[in-house]
Amino acid sequence: MSQFESSDRIYLSPPHMSGNEMKYVTEAFQTNWIAPLGPNVDAFEKEIAEKVGVNDAVAVSSGTAAIHLALSLLGVGKGDKVFCSTLTFVASANPILYQGAEPVFIDSEPDTWNMSPKALQRALQESFAKGNLPKAVIVVNLYGQSAKMDEIVSLCNMYRVPVIEDAAESLGSSYKGIPSGTFGIMGIYSFNGNKIITTSGGGMLVTNNKELAVKARFLAAQARDNAIHYQHSQMGYNYRLSNILAGIGRSQLEVLDKRVLERREVFKRYVKGLHNIDGISFMPELTNSISNRWLTAVLVSEEAGVTSSQVITALAQENIEARPVWKPLHLQPLFKNCKYFRHSETIDVATEFFQRGICLPSGSNLTIEDQDRVINCIKQITNKSLVMGG
Ligand SMILES: *Cc1c(COP(=O)(O)O)cnc(C)c1O
Repeated sequence: MSQFESSDRIYLSPPHMSGNEMKYVTEAFQTNWIAPLGPNVDAFEKEIAEKVGVNDAVAVSSGTAAIHLALSLLGVGKGDKVFCSTLTFVASANPILYQGAEPVFIDSEPDTWNMSPKALQRALQESFAKGNLPKAVIVVNLYGQSAKMDEIVSLCNMYRVPVIEDAAESLGSSYKGIPSGTFGIMGIYSFNGNKIITTSGGGMLVTNNKELAVKARFLAAQARDNAIHYQHSQMGYNYRLSNILAGIGRSQLEVLDKRVLERREVFKRYVKGLHNIDGISFMPELTNSISNRWLTAVLVSEEAGVTSSQVITALAQENIEARPVWKPLHLQPLFKNCKYFRHSETIDVATEFFQRGICLPSGSNLTIEDQDRVINCIKQITNKSLVMGG
């Protein structure tokens, strides 16, 4: 921050308060509900469940914790396989390792950038033939865009493999009119500081299965048996969400629809500003789905005359935070021995997106002036390369 005022810095996806948060937080203080349970937690769970139309929601300390609980509830353990999208944040797959299970990564397809049904089908066929079907499939909705859930869920149903929907980035999105996060046996949301709404840190497990929700609450609170003394028959976790943070979440949820519209406006302004540049294309939106456009992602191809990393460097020099698209998990040193199924024999979609993709600053509080700075910087570097390249 040495050479810049902090106000000059344009962040990728900073928190955006509604202004109403302190009302709930103050209430928590006044009533002394300073605990990992309380009225805000109960209300936040109820409000999320109503918002996305599920029977139950369990508030937890992070999205990662929610994925971990989901795997634990499905009985995923040592030696089991779990399929997972490759183009995602490491948090989608780390809980597979927590359980001692083995991740198998599935490529993306070009329409949604998400799990390729073709690759999934091959992976399921092959593992069925070998008699070791996965215990679960974790499907990620990247940057707010839903995966092709109809195809994915019906494939998984055919093989009777449960689906966990990692909707950490897609709260407020929908697929064929149905809220994102509600397609699998369980879905998860994240309220990390960079997500579309935040509790500073937190997450939610959603399900229509009452039994799973009850069990999730039990496991998230140290698996305490029903006894006045502290008795435990099973290993549990300390994963419940603080009543103070749940208060922040309740206030944030009130403005979720507004935040979706604002992020979609950010996306539209990028399209308007950049669509004339050869070699820049935008992450698509699947027909019949609405993405919350958590992050605006673009692909840079040769015609742009610059590489994606040159664009990111140019933006960094202007004190603008941009990031490559997630490094696919099958390329991570952590997962170097894991199996990977490509979209097709010859095409590795996720790796290409990683090499060419950029996430642009997309906060719902990004001002038009700041966004123009981003757009002008990209225009400048792509023009310069045209001139220099002749
Ligand atoms: C943010 C994120 C998570 C993890 O959420 P935390 O609340 O940070 O633990 C999981 N999956 C994806 C795709 C994410 O973007």
